[in-house]
Amino acid sequence: MATIKLAALTELRKPTRSIIAGKAPFFVGQGDTDLICGSCGSTLAEGIVNGQLRDIVLKCPGCGEYCEQIMLPPFPEVRVIRLSAGYFDFSTLSAPVRCPPDVAIIGTKLTVP
Ligand SMILES: [Zn+2]
Repeated sequence: MATIKLAALTELRKPTRSIIAGKAPFFVGQGDTDLICGSCGSTLAEGIVNGQLRDIVLKCPGCGEYCEQIMLPPFPEVRVIRLSAGYFDFSTLSAPVRCPPDVAIIGTKLTVP
């Protein structure tokens, strides 16, 4: 199992990004990679395939930091779930979102001029 420490975002323009908050881990997959908070080390995604979560900001419930994976390996975008920009509250879900290993979940990253 590999562990990837996410980068804490120093500046977050909320309307431009897909942000997930609530209970961690947010995602559970069938891969070999855990994503952890870059600040406190809480597990934010568990057993995903590295690269399948793309351009998604995870708000750590442990410390409140906004984190994202910055070194993303390529991932086939054959089966894709796209998230719009905005705030997604997972705290009402009874369980983490399951990620099939061949599905890319891609957030929005709008560029602000
Ligand atoms: Zn944290």
